[in-house]
Amino acid sequence: MKVFKFGGASVKDASAVRNVSKIIQLYKGEKIIVVISAMGKTTNALEEVVQFLWTKNKAAFDAKIEEVENYHFQLIDELFGENSNPIKTILTPIFENLKNKFSEEEKNSFDFEYAQIVSLGEIISTQIVNSFLKIDGLNSNWVDARKLIRTNHNYREAEIDWNKTEMLIREGFLPNFDQFDCQITQGFIGHTSDNFTTTLGREGSDFTAGIFAYCVHADDVTIWKDVPGMLNADPKFFQNTIKLDRISFREAIELSYYGASVIHPKTIKPLQNKEIPLYVKSFINPEAEGTVIQSESEFDNLVPSFIFKHNQILISFTPRDFSFIAEENLSDIFMRLSKANAKINLMQNSALSFSVLLDEDKIDLQQLLGLFENHYSVKFNENLELVTIRHYDQKTVDLVTKNKEIFLEQKTKETARFVLKPIS
Ligand code: ASP
Ligand code: MG
Repeated sequence: MKVFKFGGASVKDASAVRNVSKIIQLYKGEKIIVVISAMGKTTNALEEVVQFLWTKNKAAFDAKIEEVENYHFQLIDELFGENSNPIKTILTPIFENLKNKFSEEEKNSFDFEYAQIVSLGEIISTQIVNSFLKIDGLNSNWVDARKLIRTNHNYREAEIDWNKTEMLIREGFLPNFDQFDCQITQGFIGHTSDNFTTTLGREGSDFTAGIFAYCVHADDVTIWKDVPGMLNADPKFFQNTIKLDRISFREAIELSYYGASVIHPKTIKPLQNKEIPLYVKSFINPEAEGTVIQSESEFDNLVPSFIFKHNQILISFTPRDFSFIAEENLSDIFMRLSKANAKINLMQNSALSFSVLLDEDKIDLQQLLGLFENHYSVKFNENLELVTIRHYDQKTVDLVTKNKEIFLEQKTKETARFVLKPIS
């Protein structure tokens, strides 16, 4: 059994959906679980719908839903032509319910409403793709992931109840393969024990593919992307990228920890646990090799990888009472940082000060400074960049630090990290 995952870009228009069908047809004779995300930028649009509901902006709420509806209905017209009525009949009540949410009296928490609304992007996309696959000759079944993936009540970043999920998938889903060759389901969504929809965190569809693969003990997982595989750097920031042909689970986890964004970080662990290989392949060139992530690590250091994070701010705290940096004030600093919702990209301490590097656009700097000013003197440097090199050597270090001032550097055997500022 195989698991395929198609993200938003791979179903963003009618020709993309046709291409998904072509890819599945390449695997005749296989049983395939197909996990699909919301189409194109639908998740962002639905996040806006939730905002407009919450801020009681009726005009913007209606307009945004209409935009989402038109986008899908135009895609349907192009894809199904004169056969578009059955799928429209399935989707119309979903959009009607969504529109009616504005007049509902009872509002739950923001996160609850978020999950009920944003999850619809995946419901709609899988209905469209499944209907098309059937017309295109595939023996395909639509499955509601909200009935299979059991989670806790954290509506925007839900934790999986693995035992319950495995049971639901084995009993309520696997037997369908007696009748069907492929089963289409949604990434990113689950349900609570009291049957309300939850979401697994943005970009969580990869993780769903990992969950299904783990629960059915799949032979392999393939994530179909618009790049040829995992590259050794983001082509936006780096010329002459190289594809990584074969890396270990451990290496993939390290790369995503340092900020490489090809695969959702939670995806790898369940696959590593059951030694299920993960392929990253191009949906544009589906017969090309791509990248395989698997247990063996002997190929990990063949190619150095580069991970860039821009727009970094380096903040240093010095206790005003001139005490040394030790356990007590470290835990105090962490407490204040977590109050400011700061996610630390790198940290370093000396005798008298402690420094953290943060994404500047994810913090409220004034609020953060306010949380520290009574007890610490605080200095900061903005507009820095963080470069991580896995499997570095002098040549790669020279390449990334050329014409840059080095604010800070950290090296371990396999990893070198630099906080840099261009020399102006
Ligand atoms: N549609 C969701 C998102 O855009 C999940 C995913 O694409 O993986 O975040
Ligand atoms: Mg998406």
